[in-house]
Amino acid sequence: NTYVLEVNNLKKYFPIKGGLLKKTVGHVKAVDDISFHVEKNETLSLVGESGCGKSTTGRTILRLYESTSGEVFFNGENIMDIPKGKFRGMRKDIQMIFQDPFSSLNPRMNVKQLLMEPILTHKLVSRKEANDLVVEMIEKVGLSKEQLNRYPHEFSGGQRQRISIARALIVKPKLVILDEAVSALDVSIQSQILNLLIQLQDEFELTYIFISHDLNVVKHVSDRVAVMYLGQMMELAETKDLYENPLHPYTKALLSAIPSLDPDKKKDRIILQGDVPDPSDPPSGCPFRLRCPMAFDRCAEEKPEFLEREKNHWVACHLFDEQEEADA
Ligand code: SF4
Ligand code: MG
Repeated sequence: NTYVLEVNNLKKYFPIKGGLLKKTVGHVKAVDDISFHVEKNETLSLVGESGCGKSTTGRTILRLYESTSGEVFFNGENIMDIPKGKFRGMRKDIQMIFQDPFSSLNPRMNVKQLLMEPILTHKLVSRKEANDLVVEMIEKVGLSKEQLNRYPHEFSGGQRQRISIARALIVKPKLVILDEAVSALDVSIQSQILNLLIQLQDEFELTYIFISHDLNVVKHVSDRVAVMYLGQMMELAETKDLYENPLHPYTKALLSAIPSLDPDKKKDRIILQGDVPDPSDPPSGCPFRLRCPMAFDRCAEEKPEFLEREKNHWVACHLFDEQEEADA
């Protein structure tokens, strides 16, 4: 198949320690049995409110956290099973870009050193070739070779994110996980960085997992979008389909909160009651039921399965069972 990544039943539970003996008294189910794939050259976005598990998913794929269970196939290999030492060698193929480039760029290294480091770590090319590669890459992200001797604090937030992008892409990864990569930037800078990411994706044939809480940003970069809530997937669809024809009550509520510029398209805002429940003590049945305006008896008793209800459109909600029964 042409999948770059295939995730099957991935779980990441963090133990909660309590009492005098610091025994495990429970678990935060940060990622609770999710499955999805990412195709070559595509951008799949993971969206949801903070604490929904989208960042933990990215970090678990990269093995910054060890998974609790599940499979993650990358290039046909289950990378959750590979010994740590061997996985380190594969790490160049999956790069991650974070929200705050200030904390991910060593302040004592200049740009040249920052870009040279990953090339030398992975022993990709000779020193001479590395020099050329550094110049080429800094120009590709819209900075100049005159800036190579400068330090991170001498750059603006947007420029620092350009440096992070250059540093991630210089090792020629296949998959890039972008975790709130533009969230800290002003809106005008956001669109510059997003355009750069789209351009570099085409040029280097990259595959992206784009993690964001911002549905406006996601709309412009994604081929498909997955909506997460309390560690689980609520809905997954092609971008246009998700925004024009959302099926899950949670997605509908999230989309109704985005201000529309078109007065004809004014939609009624769906106000959700309450907050996201404590992930160490999620509700029975559907994780969304305490805030769902459509909830009914069965939602408390049974967890809805994540099923393909329309072509390439997956949703976890009992409403669609009722509908199918009515149609039958
Ligand atoms: Fe709402 Fe029930 Fe559907 Fe959950 S399963 S989203 S509570 S209607
Ligand atoms: Mg694309």
